[in-house]
Amino acid sequence: MMDILITDRRLEPVKEKVLAGARLDADDGLLLFASNDLAGIGGLAHYARTKRHGNRAFFVHNRHVNYTNVCVNRCLFCAYSRDAADKGAYTFSMEQVREIAMAPENRRVKEFHVVGGLNPALPFDYYIDLLRTIKEARPDATIKAFTAVEIDFISKAAGLSISETLARLKDAGLEMVPGGGADWKWWRRFMQPG
Ligand code: SF4
Repeated sequence: MMDILITDRRLEPVKEKVLAGARLDADDGLLLFASNDLAGIGGLAHYARTKRHGNRAFFVHNRHVNYTNVCVNRCLFCAYSRDAADKGAYTFSMEQVREIAMAPENRRVKEFHVVGGLNPALPFDYYIDLLRTIKEARPDATIKAFTAVEIDFISKAAGLSISETLARLKDAGLEMVPGGGADWKWWRRFMQPG
């Protein structure tokens, strides 16, 4: 049997499961999350992928819905964000969101990737409507929405905890979240003007 070099010994039980083709559980996920053994984890992931699919790669047909570019953060690296009064600032209406979801060129889209700025004018219901509108228009597609910084911002707009906010968003159609924005506190600290 092929061996995979891991330097983090805590990952041995995970490695055994991967080599045996067994399913990982939540505790394994936490172990992987806490480990710095990037090459070892990559080796395990590569083994699991090639065992299932060989050299074939699969892609999701994805459409971004960037619902607003108004953002209070104004990170210095970001060419996308605007202040509310700036030329080019926008926020999609639900009609516009529906049009995107149902556009003929998006007929084959299997995943809507919904991310935007931190717009203080938007109430919590906007995010609920956003998810519901896409789901109603395209129940066959998956919704991946809101980076960590957005979830944090939305929870404040909602006046709810993060877990309650996520539960409400899931009820409205949220199925997964993208990876970006988890470093937002770092960016806020180091990349803000002044
Ligand atoms: S939080 Fe996102 S949208 Fe807002 S300024 Fe930073 S990178 Fe741009």
